[in-house]
Amino acid sequence: MFATLPTELLPHILALFTGTPCLVALFDEQDALRWANPAYRTLFGLSAQAAPTWMDIMRINHRQRRGTAVQTDDFERWLSSAASRRGKQPFRQIEIDLVDGRWMLMTETVTEAGWMLCFGINVSEMGQDQRQLRAAHDLAVRASQADALTGIGNRAFVLARLQGLLSADLVAQPLCVGLADLDHFKRINDQRGHLAGDQVLCDFARLLQGSLRRNDVCGRIGGEEFLITLPDTPLAEAQERVGQLLEAVRQSHPLGDAPEFGYSSSFGLVQVRPGESVNAVLGRADAAMYDAKRTGRDRICTAD
Ligand code: GH3
Ligand code: MG
Ligand code: MG
Repeated sequence: MFATLPTELLPHILALFTGTPCLVALFDEQDALRWANPAYRTLFGLSAQAAPTWMDIMRINHRQRRGTAVQTDDFERWLSSAASRRGKQPFRQIEIDLVDGRWMLMTETVTEAGWMLCFGINVSEMGQDQRQLRAAHDLAVRASQADALTGIGNRAFVLARLQGLLSADLVAQPLCVGLADLDHFKRINDQRGHLAGDQVLCDFARLLQGSLRRNDVCGRIGGEEFLITLPDTPLAEAQERVGQLLEAVRQSHPLGDAPEFGYSSSFGLVQVRPGESVNAVLGRADAAMYDAKRTGRDRICTAD
């Protein structure tokens, strides 16, 4: 049970959050900024009223060379990859370096409903000798969770999430799981080359990741197969959301030198039954996905 917070403390909390040089920010389940203190707003160049998503904050900062220092030659891929692992566990801390040379220890605390408190402190002066080791550790954790090609979660990451959700008490919460497989992907490779195929995989991963809420997780589980977990989502709602994704995929033209090229994907979607195992869920999702293939592709099939 939560201890209630006496309302007379609220003005003091607000005054302290406003005055502290620590970074304080609150994001909702869609990862839109709902409140941030002046230290956070100043660092990321946000006006007092601005409520952008975290991805937009990162985009604007990268363009303006401020805030978080990002070393990458493909910023959108970096962003999609970071977003796919952001806020997927109840608590995490990472050290980030800022463009101005400071090092910040950022903590992310996430509620079950997907709201996130970010709290950052300046650790530029602390434990410098251990910093390289910690940075190497962060990199190793990232590498163990991310798919090397697309940057989104890998097989182990998304299956661990599914296992975690199945172990939790799901009685009151509908959980849907979707298995996606790109259509005629071998043909894309054969006709346009393996590199074009890779570009299509990255495009699909970006669209998939972009369609998720904070509590959803996606991962690439095999060559051109992807898994998503959608907690607190009844089957009809999951169908609608995946339907929007399929439409976005239909509209996408990811090959710069072949602007007419398009592709599609098939989805098997299931709502998890109480007490069901990972293998049973995957088996039903796989069967539903094959129904989608069998009945013409570019569609969603569900299993009951
Ligand atoms: P369907 O619509 O029935 O799914 O047909 P498909 O051609 O997509 O299915 P199939 O399983 O026959 O082909 C999958 C292909 O994906 C075969 C494999 O060479 C290719 N593939 C697997 N991993 C990668 C990868 O990392 N990059 C690229 N470019 N191709 C890959
Ligand atoms: Mg396949
Ligand atoms: Mg396929």
